[in-house]
Amino acid sequence: MPGRLIDGKAVAAEVRERVAAEVAELAHAPGLATVLAGDDPASAVYVRMKREDCAQVGIESFHHEPGGDVPEQALAELLGSLNCDPQVNGILLQLPLPGHLDGEAMSALIDPAKDVDGLTPFSAGLLAHGHPGLVPCTPAGVMELLAHADVELEGAEAVVVGRSQLVGKPLASLLLAANATVTHCHSRTRDLGASCRRADVLVAAAGSPGLITADMVHEGAAVIDVGTNRTDDGLVGDVDFDAVREVAGAITPVPGGVGPMTRAMLLVNTVAAARTQLEARR
Ligand code: NAP
Repeated sequence: MPGRLIDGKAVAAEVRERVAAEVAELAHAPGLATVLAGDDPASAVYVRMKREDCAQVGIESFHHEPGGDVPEQALAELLGSLNCDPQVNGILLQLPLPGHLDGEAMSALIDPAKDVDGLTPFSAGLLAHGHPGLVPCTPAGVMELLAHADVELEGAEAVVVGRSQLVGKPLASLLLAANATVTHCHSRTRDLGASCRRADVLVAAAGSPGLITADMVHEGAAVIDVGTNRTDDGLVGDVDFDAVREVAGAITPVPGGVGPMTRAMLLVNTVAAARTQLEARR
């Protein structure tokens, strides 16, 4: 029997409803500043969708487009002013930045209290120390999907393929914090198939279409596909979906799996940041 489909769209809709209810209880609408530097069309679409998501749940968004040739100093000053703006509870600096700017260094200028993407070294440090603050949206979304699908993590063998700061590393920390036994794979892993076959929970976040084949998955495993690859056949994940679904116990599709959760978790983080800032001012 094919594995259960974990429907990211449906879970994300529930998360958005929860966020909207929380927002309605707050005295002031939370505010998210979006900063788009450069003219990458995909980035422009992502930012527009994030702003639409905000509007849907009652989060105010403040958009800034400093231009693709913005000097480092000017972008730093913009981020500094958003850090000080009490109407802004969260700051989203859309990556990648134009080539003359260092995305990691610029992200690090965001006040950790407003770091709704969870990408500052401070946020990463808290997570690594087991005291998560604002957690990066994609790994947070993966954890929410696993919880929603009732996947047992306590003592489970979890395998994460990919070790980026954005997805793989924070996800491994979250799985470890949930008491899974975590194996972390990457491009230098000697025998990826052997590592993956151990997994009760397998998360693919490599950006390599069709990397995970059915023979790499043990029967009944939960398979979460973070990969988002544009191919001639359209948008595909890292998992050979049709074949792997035949052996997996549960699986996310691409599109419609992790993607919608990433967007939803940005809203969760923005409300969490607003609440924390409100409490700190009391
Ligand atoms: P990344 O920074 O390029 O990292 C990719 C990771 O995968 C690296 O650690 C790399 O290993 C590893 N890797 C690459 N090819 C591999 C292979 N053949 N075998 C084993 N490991 C391999 O990418 P990312 O930002 O983490 O994103 C990963 C994927 O997730 C991409 O497709 C991206 O588009 C997608 N994504 C989706 C969402 C969403 O919301 N759905 C959000 C973020 C990212 P090394 O470290 O050794 O190079």
